[in-house]
Amino acid sequence: MMSEISIRTIGRAGRITLTRPKVMNALSYDMCLQIDAALRCWQHDDAVALVVIDAIGDKAFCAGGDIAKMYATGKAGDFGFGRTFWRDEYRMNALIAEYPKPVVSLMQGFTMGGGVGIGCHGSHRVVCESSSIAMPECGIGLIPDVGGTYLLARAPGRLGEYLGLTAARMGADDAIFAGFADFYVPQATWPALIDHLEKSGDIRGLPDKCTTPPPGKLHDLAQQIDANFGGERLRDVVNLLRASDTEFAVGALKTLGRNAPLSMACTLEMLHRMRAGTPNIRKALELEYRYTHRAMEHSDFLEGIRAAIIDKDRTPKWRHSVDTVPLTDVSRMLRPLGADKLNFEQQETGMIIGFIGLGNMGGPMAANLARAGHRVQGYDTAPQAIDGVQSTASAGQAAQGADVVITMLPNGAILRAVASEVIPAMSPGAVFLDCSTVDVESARAVAADAAEAGLLALDAPVSGGIGGASAGTLTFMIGGPADGVKKAQDLFDIMGQKSVHCGPSGNGQAAKICNNMILGVTMIATCEAFALADKLGLDRQAMFDVVSTSSGYSWSMNAYCPAPGIGPMSPADNGYAPGFAAELMLKDLRLAQQAAETVNADTPMGTSAAQLYGQFVEDENGKGLDFSAMLPRFETRKRS
Ligand code: NAD
Repeated sequence: MMSEISIRTIGRAGRITLTRPKVMNALSYDMCLQIDAALRCWQHDDAVALVVIDAIGDKAFCAGGDIAKMYATGKAGDFGFGRTFWRDEYRMNALIAEYPKPVVSLMQGFTMGGGVGIGCHGSHRVVCESSSIAMPECGIGLIPDVGGTYLLARAPGRLGEYLGLTAARMGADDAIFAGFADFYVPQATWPALIDHLEKSGDIRGLPDKCTTPPPGKLHDLAQQIDANFGGERLRDVVNLLRASDTEFAVGALKTLGRNAPLSMACTLEMLHRMRAGTPNIRKALELEYRYTHRAMEHSDFLEGIRAAIIDKDRTPKWRHSVDTVPLTDVSRMLRPLGADKLNFEQQETGMIIGFIGLGNMGGPMAANLARAGHRVQGYDTAPQAIDGVQSTASAGQAAQGADVVITMLPNGAILRAVASEVIPAMSPGAVFLDCSTVDVESARAVAADAAEAGLLALDAPVSGGIGGASAGTLTFMIGGPADGVKKAQDLFDIMGQKSVHCGPSGNGQAAKICNNMILGVTMIATCEAFALADKLGLDRQAMFDVVSTSSGYSWSMNAYCPAPGIGPMSPADNGYAPGFAAELMLKDLRLAQQAAETVNADTPMGTSAAQLYGQFVEDENGKGLDFSAMLPRFETRKRS
C-alpha cells in the first residue's frame, strides 16, 4: 500500500506531505496520529526550525476527513471510533494552532473540513490560483469543526455565519479576507519557496514571494452578508433572506434549503457563544466536540453521509426543517459532556511507547499496546502500517518522549546498532525493553550502555510465536532490574499471559535459549520416534495415545504434534507452514551454542540439534517450513 503521508526532515524543516491524491488527500485517522506524533517530536528538536505542510496532486490539498470508516462503524451502532477520531484530530488541530515554531502550509485546490484543520491553523498559510477553501459540514449534518468555529468566529462581520451555514467556497483573496489564509504565492514558485524554507529554516523570505491575488467575491458581498446573517436564530436568518429578492438572498436561501437545519442552528449558536468571550482555539474545539461526540446518535450526520457519499442520492431526510429547529435540540447537542469532555492532554492514563521492529512479532505486539490505550510511536526500516500505531521517520524519533522503548529485531548486531541511536534519545528513568531473541553478550552489552545512560534496561525475549503475539498470550523471560520489571509489568500483561523475572541482565536471553534448546532437541526426538514407529508398523495415533500420556510426553508431542491429523491442530495439519520456522529454531540453537562456547558448557544434544537444523535449513528444503517438518524429513531417510 502506498503510504498516505510522508513525514521526514529536510534541512531545517520538519516536512509533512499528504500523499493520497487519488482521494483528494482525505485525512484518515492514521494520518492524524502521524501528524500529531511528528509535531510533538519536532517541538523539542533543535534541528527543526519550522514545519512545512504540503500535499501531492493538483486537485486538493485535503478535501476533508476520511469518513468511510466513521460511517460504517456508526451505522453499526459503534460510536467509539468516530469519537476517538474526532478527539485525536482536534488535539492535533490545537497543536498546530499553538505550535511554538512556524508552521507553513501550502494549500492548492480544495481545502475543506479536516483539510482546514491542518492547513488553516498554522502561522503562515499560503494559497494560490487554484485554492478553494470551505467548511461544508452543514451539508452532511455536522458542524464546522476542526477548529473551524474559531476561524469563523473571527472572520469580519457576519462572514463566519455565512461561510459556516452556506459552505461557500473561498478563492485565495476571499480566504485571506476571511482569515483562513495569509499569503498568496503563485503555485509555480512553491518549489523554490519550499526549498528556501528547508535550507534556511527561516520564514522571513516568505513575504517576498507574495503577490496580490485576483479579487474575490466576499468584499463586495460583505454588506449583504452582514444584513442577512445577523439573526439570533436560524429562523431569523431565513426570514431575512426570504424578505429580500436580491440575487444573493435567493441563492443563499436555496443553499440553506439543502443543508441540515439542526447543523445550521447549532453553528449559529456556537459562533455566538464563541464571540461572547475572546475566541480561542481550545474553547472552539471543546464546543465542537460536544456536537461531534453526539453526532452519530442525535444529529443528521449519518443520514447526511448516506445521502452525499454512500447512496449519492443527494436527498437527505433531515430531522427538522429550517423553521422548526427547537431550541432544546440545539442545547442538547451543545450541553457539556462531563467526563467525556475534550481535553488536550496527550494521554490520560497510557504510556508513550516507542516500538522499533514492526515485523511478524513486533507488529501485532505494538497493535495490542495501542489497542489498550497506550500511545505507540513505531519505527521499522521497512515501513509498516499497524493499526493505531503512529509511524515515525527514525528509531530516534520513535524513542522521543517515550516512557518505554521496545525493540523486536532480527539479531544482536541490529539490536546494538538501534540501541546506539535510541539510548541517547531517551530520558533517564525510562525503560529500554528488548524482546528480540539475541545472543546473551549483545543483551548484556546493550543493557550496560542503557544503564549508564540512566535507563532501566530489560531483556525479555518471548515464546509463543506469531499466534501468541497477535492473541496477547506470549510468555516473557525477563532479565534486568526489578524496578524496570515493575514499570513495564502492565505492558507484559497486555502482550502476554505470563512473565517470569529470571534475574539480572542477560538472564532472559539465557532462559530463552535454554528453553528452545530443549524444544529443538525434543522436537527432533519426537520426529525421529514417529519415523521409527512408522517403519516398525506402529500406528501414529496409537503412538500418540501412548507417548502423550507416558514418560515420553513433551510439549512437542502433546501440544504441537509433528504428525498431521494426530493430536491438537498444529502446523503439521497445515502443510508445515510456520508456526515457528525452522530457521528461527536454528537461530536459537546457534545462540545456545554460542553461549555454551562462552561459558565452556558441554551440550552434546544441543550441538547435534543445531547441526541437524543447520543441515535441514541450509542444505535441504527446510527453509520456510515449520520446525516440526523434521518429521517428513526423517520419513524419507535411511540409517546412514
Ligand atoms: P521479522 O523479520 O518479521 O521482524 C523484524 C523486523 O525488524 C522487520 O520488520 C525488519 O524490517 C525490522 N528491522 C530490521 N532492522 C531494523 C532496524 N535497524 N531498525 C528498525 N527495524 C528494523 O521477525 P520476527 O518474526 O518479528 O522476529 C523478531 C524477533 O523475535 C527475532 O529476534 C526473533 O528471533 C524473535 N522471535 C520470533 C518468533 C516468531 O515466531 N517469529 C518467536 C519468538 C521470538
